[in-house]
Amino acid sequence: RAKLVGRNTYSFFTPEMRAQSVRALQLENALRRALERDQFTLHYQPQVCITTGQLTGVEALLRWQHPELGQVSPAEFIPVAEDCGQILPIGEWVLRQALVQLRVWRNQGFALKTMAVNLSAVQFRQPQLPEIIKRTLAETGLEPGCLELELTEGVAMDDPRAAIATMDQLHACGIRLSMDDFGTGYSSLSQLKRFPIYKLKIDQSFVRDLDDDANDRAIVSAIIRMAQALGMQTIAEGVETIGQLAFLREQGCTEAQGYHCGRPQPAAQLQALLAAQLLC
Ligand code: C2E
Ligand code: MG
Ligand code: MG
Ligand code: MG
Repeated sequence: RAKLVGRNTYSFFTPEMRAQSVRALQLENALRRALERDQFTLHYQPQVCITTGQLTGVEALLRWQHPELGQVSPAEFIPVAEDCGQILPIGEWVLRQALVQLRVWRNQGFALKTMAVNLSAVQFRQPQLPEIIKRTLAETGLEPGCLELELTEGVAMDDPRAAIATMDQLHACGIRLSMDDFGTGYSSLSQLKRFPIYKLKIDQSFVRDLDDDANDRAIVSAIIRMAQALGMQTIAEGVETIGQLAFLREQGCTEAQGYHCGRPQPAAQLQALLAAQLLC
């Protein structure tokens, strides 16, 4: 971030950097009020069993609608929220909102197994995290096994031993952990084998060109076989075509997620999908 650039180096502060930091400041200020002003919602994207085609769970994805800035992408505002400390209250809101929604669906008789929630590395390092999660599960009357926390490889970057201790603690509570964007971050296989990870999420960058790229097919097939050997489930992200789905199924990938199976959508729309599943 530009603001980290020291006094003596101001001459490297290019117009582009200035524009970026103005935008970041603007987002930062707006983020501080976003929760109280009710500007966040969650969308839910289907996660589908690749052999039966049935909905097994959904991933909660945060959406922010600001009156002047419009709809801001989480890819842009999450890093800003991490930098300014807002990610903690926002992340806690996401967790609660997602679990309350699952409670509502369960009460209505929909058999939805899991709710996947993205966790920022900053949240993951928060000492109170396990307590917050346990409390939220208790308050919504949900079993820990219904919650899937999506972590990125970055959580283990600074202090792998502390990260493993936190993962073990969450795992011991019965919560499932999945490794998001697998293959794109800082990851060492020697660490991966120590992580109590339930599921690998194959990053969409490997899935995108599966239909034409033999290298991507080799990588994806190797990830699936490695996961199988380590006793982990696999879910492919960004599945958009029948060809991709067929290859993943043939390779033994367990689940699929992507526009082909369903877009991230508001709760009411997802509920219509759940209702349709009930009827067949
Ligand atoms: P992610 O967790 O890897 O989520 C997957 C992203 O891929 C989502 O983008 C989703 O809308 C998009 N996607 C799903 N299927 C397809 C597809 O078939 N094709 C393509 N091209 N894209 C697809 P989104 O919702 O913009 O979120 C971006 C990232 O922001 C997420 O990546 C996640 O890292 C972060 N994020 C979103 N919500 C939260 C949250 O509540 N907390 C935290 N900490 N991060 C979040
Ligand atoms: Mg995710
Ligand atoms: Mg991902
Ligand atoms: Mg991502």
